[in-house]
Amino acid sequence: MKIYDVTSPIYEGMPVYKNKPEKQPKFSTVTNGYVTETRLELDVHGGTHVDAPLHMITNGETFETIPIEKLVGQCKVLDLTDVTDRITKTDLEKFSIEEDDFLLFKTKNSFDEEFNFDFIFLAEDGATYLTERKIRGVGTDALGIERSQEGHPTHKTLFTNNVIIIEGLRLKEVNQGNYFMVAAPLKLSGIDASPARILLFEGLK
Ligand SMILES: [Zn+2]
Repeated sequence: MKIYDVTSPIYEGMPVYKNKPEKQPKFSTVTNGYVTETRLELDVHGGTHVDAPLHMITNGETFETIPIEKLVGQCKVLDLTDVTDRITKTDLEKFSIEEDDFLLFKTKNSFDEEFNFDFIFLAEDGATYLTERKIRGVGTDALGIERSQEGHPTHKTLFTNNVIIIEGLRLKEVNQGNYFMVAAPLKLSGIDASPARILLFEGLK
């Protein structure tokens, strides 16, 4: 059985949203020669992570309200590498999308080695279409599911319809198809997101 680790590595100098220095992780390592301990300072939206509604909705639900059962199970990787600029309803209508699907979007973003200010994102009409199809969740290979849309309608449409959002996937090596996904975020409580390790298993049902 083949396992794909679609998680981005976390290190000082990693690609972060809009290259903002304050979003860089910081490792503070103390050692006395035989015991070494590192303290980690990490933006919860850095690298591969799962968003909670609180991220874009005032008084929205916090991270622990997302059941792990919704993050573990079948998912579909959609090849959207031909899309330029944004993923629209028209782009998504070409695929068979069913109720309770967890969709992962493989776009040109997966081939970027540095933060790309023009990353491919999910347009508002695409998000609305996905909520009409009643999907369980959506994952993107950008550090954000949207950009250039005032008021963040993509995030809000998904969150208000209980669609889980994963950001920062690395899907370069993964072909379109069905996989068993284990998305295991840190068990953080009371906040707006959590970093996650995400694995895709090929041929496991
Ligand atoms: Zn986020």
